[in-house]
Amino acid sequence: MKLEATVDDLMDTLRADLERLAAIPSIAFPGFPAAPVQEAHDLLVELLRGAGVPTVERLDLPDTSPVIYGEIPPPTPDAPTVLLYGHYDVQPPGDESLWKSPPFEPTPIEGGLRARGIADDKSNVIAHLGMLRAYGGRPPVGIKIVIEGQEEYGSAFDDYPPTDPERFACDAMVVADLGNLRPGTPTLTTALRGASEVVVEVRTLDEPRHSGEFGGAAPDALLVLLKALATLHDVHGDVAVEGLRREDWSGTSYTEEEFRSLAGVREGVPLIGSGSLGERLWSGPAITVIGLDAPSVEHAASAVVPYARAKLNLRFHPRQDAKEAQAKLVDHLRSLTPFGVPLTVTPGDTGPGYEAPTGGPAYRAARAALKEAWGEDASFVATGGSIPLVNGLAKAAPGAEVLLFGAQDSMCNLHAPNERVLFSELRNTVVAMAAFVREYAADFEGSDGATERRA
Ligand SMILES: [Zn+2]
Repeated sequence: MKLEATVDDLMDTLRADLERLAAIPSIAFPGFPAAPVQEAHDLLVELLRGAGVPTVERLDLPDTSPVIYGEIPPPTPDAPTVLLYGHYDVQPPGDESLWKSPPFEPTPIEGGLRARGIADDKSNVIAHLGMLRAYGGRPPVGIKIVIEGQEEYGSAFDDYPPTDPERFACDAMVVADLGNLRPGTPTLTTALRGASEVVVEVRTLDEPRHSGEFGGAAPDALLVLLKALATLHDVHGDVAVEGLRREDWSGTSYTEEEFRSLAGVREGVPLIGSGSLGERLWSGPAITVIGLDAPSVEHAASAVVPYARAKLNLRFHPRQDAKEAQAKLVDHLRSLTPFGVPLTVTPGDTGPGYEAPTGGPAYRAARAALKEAWGEDASFVATGGSIPLVNGLAKAAPGAEVLLFGAQDSMCNLHAPNERVLFSELRNTVVAMAAFVREYAADFEGSDGATERRA
C-alpha cells in the first residue's frame, strides 16, 4: 500500500516529464534532423541524474545515435543487479492528416495522452525513471540502465552487448519495449518469433510478347510465380511448408473478437489458419507476401509477362534455428517447378527468435509484482514482432533472467497514427517495477544466486 501511495504522489511529475519528452520529435531515421534526437538524449540524461543515478555515460557507437548508460551500484555486495532497457527514439509520424492532433504535441485523451512515441517507448523510459524516484535513487538492487537512441531504425547497437559483456553483466533484465495484452491485463511476454526474408524470381521470356499472338503457349512469369506462392499454404490457410516448427501455445492470447478489431479485419472476411490464435501468431510459422513486382493494373499492356518477383516474410517458432527455418522455406521454393519452370530463390536477412526461461527467482518476483500492481495474475504471451537487441543482451549476460513487460498495450496504436498511452498502465508499470526490485532483492538474499556470488 505504501509503495502505491508513493507512486501515486509521483504521477504528476512523471506525466509532466513524459509530456516534455514526447514533445521532442526524436526520429533517428535518415532524412530527419539529428538535433531532436540529441535533445531527447540530453533531457533523459538530466532526468536520470536528477533521479539519483550517480554515473551516467554516453556510448558512441558507429552508425547509431548515442546510447545512454547509467549505473547505481548494488546497496550491499549480495544484492542482485538489474539491467533496465528502453529507447528514446520514435517512429516517424507517417501521414499527419490521419492524426487527430499534431503528433509531437502531447494531447490529453480519456485516461491518457496521445503523441508519437508516447507509448513506444517513452512511457517505459519514464516508468524506469519512476521506479528510481520511488526509491529516492537508492533501490534495493544494483541498477544498470541502458536507453538506446536508434531502436526503430536498424541500430548497430543490437550486436554490441556481447562485445562488452562486463558492462551488461547482470542477474536480471527488464526489457521494457512493450506492454500488456490489453489495458488492465498484466502481461509478461516470454517469447518472440524469429523473422526471415526470402526473394523468389521467375524469368520466362526475354521481353513482353503480345498476349493474343503468344498467350496460350508462351509461359507467363506472373502466373508461374502465383502458382508457386499458392503452395505456401494449405486450403485452410495454415503454412504448408514442411519442417517449420509449430506447437500449442500454453499461455494467454487475444479473443477472436479482439484480434479481428486490432487487425482491422473486414466483416465477412474469416481469419486464416486453424488452431488457437496463440499457436497461429506465436508458436507456429507465418508466411506473408510483403512485396510483388509485376506490371501494375493501371499500366497493364496486353502482353505475356516475362518476369515477376516476390518478397516473402517468414515468422517462425521462437526456438527454431533461424538458418534452419529459412532453409525450409528456400528448399520448398527450390523444389517447385510450376509448369516445369524453375524459380530463382534468394535468402535475405534472418534473425533468431527468443524464448525466456520462466522458472527463476526474477520471474517469481515479477509475477508477484505484476499481481500487486494490477490486482490479478500475470498472463504469459509472446509477440510476433522481434526485438533483436534481446538476443544481444541475452548473449552478453547468459545467466540473466529476461523480463519483458511495460506500459504499452496492444490497443495503443504503436507505429500507427494516434499513438496513445494510458495513465493507468503507466502508473501500474511503475508500481510493478518498484515492487519487482523489492521482491527480487528479498528473494535473492540467501538464494543460490547470492551464494554463488559469495563463493
Ligand atoms: Zn519500441
